[in-house]
Amino acid sequence: NFKLIRSFIGAMAGAFDIGEDKTRVAVVQYSTDTRTEFNLNQYFRRADLLRAIKHLPYKGGNTMTGEAIDYIVKNIFTEAAGGRKSFPKVAMIITDGKSQDPVHEHARRLRNMGAEIFVLGIKGADEDELKEMASTPHSKHIYNVLDFDLIKEVQQQLITEVCTGVEDQLNSLASGEEGTTPQRGISATVTSCNVQADVVLLVDGSYSIGLANFAKVRAFLEVLVNSFDIGPSKVQISLVQYSRDPHTEFALNKHHDSSAVVKAVRTFPYRGGSTNTGKAMTYVRDKIFVTSRGARNNVPRVMVLITDGKSSDSFKVPAENLRRSDVEIFAVGVKDAVRSELEAIANHPADNHVFEVEDFDAFERISKELTQSICLRIEQELKTAWSLWELQGLVVEPVFSKWKPT
Ligand SMILES: [Mg+2]
Repeated sequence: NFKLIRSFIGAMAGAFDIGEDKTRVAVVQYSTDTRTEFNLNQYFRRADLLRAIKHLPYKGGNTMTGEAIDYIVKNIFTEAAGGRKSFPKVAMIITDGKSQDPVHEHARRLRNMGAEIFVLGIKGADEDELKEMASTPHSKHIYNVLDFDLIKEVQQQLITEVCTGVEDQLNSLASGEEGTTPQRGISATVTSCNVQADVVLLVDGSYSIGLANFAKVRAFLEVLVNSFDIGPSKVQISLVQYSRDPHTEFALNKHHDSSAVVKAVRTFPYRGGSTNTGKAMTYVRDKIFVTSRGARNNVPRVMVLITDGKSSDSFKVPAENLRRSDVEIFAVGVKDAVRSELEAIANHPADNHVFEVEDFDAFERISKELTQSICLRIEQELKTAWSLWELQGLVVEPVFSKWKPT
């Protein structure tokens, strides 16, 4: 369960543009007592922050939530700990139980110092208590799930609401409330909240995969599509299976929400045949990334190739043509896949575009790394777009206070 909480914290932190002059993140863990895992001024690089989150140790103990909130007021949003005046403040409280001490007064103080409080309650969380802590409106600040593995169901919405909250705070700070100097350069946050992208999943369905492994490919695709916020004005996904010939399982404009895509990914048939990867990439360029089938002209284009082995046809020119038409290619090789082939197909650097798994069970290991790479690339493209509009300079301070079961 703690792993699921860690991965939630990672996704939340990863949605922000991390930096000394941008978003800073602190993590506080509490149970019987409270301790700082790291302060706002500890990690200014995204990779360092995500690594620290990945390695958060599990604490265990009772549930003194009130004391933990008091701790945040006194020790986290302070100048010494890296807190900055006149910047948006967010506290995300994650708890799975009822507090053993009162929370109301401490939470009110935290809100009064300008922090917007979001609460993620899991399993035994007490709804009334969540209301005592969270900012209003409660519909946007309280998330209650029945089990740890359901966190991912609310994750995207929660991230979006946090981002919206931060943007609202930036707007009111910029409008210069009394005593606050409007900060020039503070404007829209550069986050993955409003990510738009067209993503094509190109899946090898040749005979060499086999039916049992193909089921694992489906499971992997499900994890992959679940990491995107899907919709006509957000991320659109298309699935193409290829062997001798490519086949559109669904086009970019076919499904309008995540549940429809997941359903389609779970059930699409295994087709079988040879492995014409080159032909399939030409097909993606000519038949999928076209406006008549929902492709948008001003959003990042991404293709993820999943293949188990050597192509039966020539692939270098088709791959180059696809990359030239501004499609960023990621390649996932499994089992017998030849690395040099994957590298010739994918964009550079290979470090974050080529992924190899030794067998089909190892998909789980790379799924997160891959989705983070994709999201990072999309964010970078968006950042470029934003800077063209001179909307730069984000500053947010989410504080993650997390709790885990006794
Ligand atoms: Mg094959």
